[in-house]
Amino acid sequence: TADSAKSFFRRNAFVLFTIAAVLLGIILAFSLRPYQLTYRQIKYFSFPGELLMRMLQMLVLPLIVSSLITGMASLDGRASGKMGMRAVVYYMVTTIIAVFIGILMVVIIHPGKGTKENMHREGRIEQVQTTDAFMDLVRNMFPPNLVEACFKQYKTQYSTRVFTRTVLHSSNVTANVATTQLPTTENSTGILENVTHALGTISEVLTFEEVIPIPGSANGVNALGLVVFSMCFGLVIGSMKQKGRALREFFNCLNEAIMRLVAIIIWYAPVGIMFLIAGKILEMDDLAVMGGQLGMYTLTVIVGLLIHALCILPLLYFIVTHRNPWVFIAGLLQALITALGTSSSSATLPITFRCLEENNGVDRRITRFVLPVGATINMDGTALYEALAAIFIAQVNNYELDFGQIITISITATAASIGAAGIPQAGLVTMVIVLTSVGLPTEDITLIIAVDWFLDRLRTTTNVLGDSLGAGIVEHLSRQELDAQECELGNSGIEKN
Ligand code: ASP
Repeated sequence: TADSAKSFFRRNAFVLFTIAAVLLGIILAFSLRPYQLTYRQIKYFSFPGELLMRMLQMLVLPLIVSSLITGMASLDGRASGKMGMRAVVYYMVTTIIAVFIGILMVVIIHPGKGTKENMHREGRIEQVQTTDAFMDLVRNMFPPNLVEACFKQYKTQYSTRVFTRTVLHSSNVTANVATTQLPTTENSTGILENVTHALGTISEVLTFEEVIPIPGSANGVNALGLVVFSMCFGLVIGSMKQKGRALREFFNCLNEAIMRLVAIIIWYAPVGIMFLIAGKILEMDDLAVMGGQLGMYTLTVIVGLLIHALCILPLLYFIVTHRNPWVFIAGLLQALITALGTSSSSATLPITFRCLEENNGVDRRITRFVLPVGATINMDGTALYEALAAIFIAQVNNYELDFGQIITISITATAASIGAAGIPQAGLVTMVIVLTSVGLPTEDITLIIAVDWFLDRLRTTTNVLGDSLGAGIVEHLSRQELDAQECELGNSGIEKN
């Protein structure tokens, strides 16, 4: 009837607008493509989309911090410990499954045809060591400067240095006088020679080149560091009873205010998404690049992501909660479309929050706690992608991977997905860890760059879906703690929210 249609429309207005916007964007873009707009014109055209991206990003930082702090502060230590464990187990299990599917797909479909000649592995100077990358991951958990963490991530840089080892022959002693790290200038070698001459006779000077890590930093929010800090901070002020009350209320209000801003921005989201998608379609190269090997590769990634997102994750949700996963996913549509449009799971975070809380009624104590962590470390799509892409590059290079190397790829792909920021194409950057761990050439990332903008959108959508279903699953498993706490809060009259 008219009434029920009206109420359906009212309830689903945002989603309907968003879907209409995507369709309109696609139609608009394809009808403009024949005019071959210049790059500048395309940038003007997609400006409203860029604005949406900026608005969402603007909210991410205060949202992550305030929601985690309030989330942790509203749970007692034991409850948050249990929920945290559940969330971490879910993240690990789904990420490992994702990696497994990625590997399975690329081995079965075998998109890489071995077009490059055999790699010359000997004599390569290793650029990045896996250990360094792992250490960076852990370093980022503990930012020395919180303000800097809001815009900078720590990343080791690499530089080539020449080392000179001078073996000195002086009276009866042969000593390894210096393993000196020197720039390659003749001058410095000269200085060294003078010094060593003064001490004795040089019997040999060995010079060798090595790539060494030097401290450095890259741009981008260090979300991992902020997450770790906010969780600890929230836990502490949660345990401070009366003394922590002012801080708890402050962050609670901050969180509330940010969510109200999200509610405003959400009205603009469909317009922004329309222009984001249209702009990208206008910008993209002709689909001809997708032909051949790269096309097969793209297809393999798509199949892998679809299996994970549409079979494994919903099945897992169903097995644990015995509820219909599709109803849950329908409530998430707007977040999923935003992920597709922005290719950033952290920019999507505000919308994900809203979808879960408003449409799916997930308890705020869960979303506040699980979502920011999930958006930062749980990236199933990225993990699947990285493992798959690394093996594809091995296939192109005609390089046989043994079982141990495949395990190494699985582990590093998991780590790389944890380390990847929720920003566009971050996965491509952390690919370096995976490739170097098995000695594959990092420059071969260029082989897959052409299609990455597209695959990035799909893996981001998978990432957001994984985080959201995770929140649903953790909520279901934590019902007991949540109820218990509700009674406690009811009795003591402390703010719950
Ligand atoms: N863009 C992805 C995300 O935001 C990360 C990636 O590049 O895989 O989730």
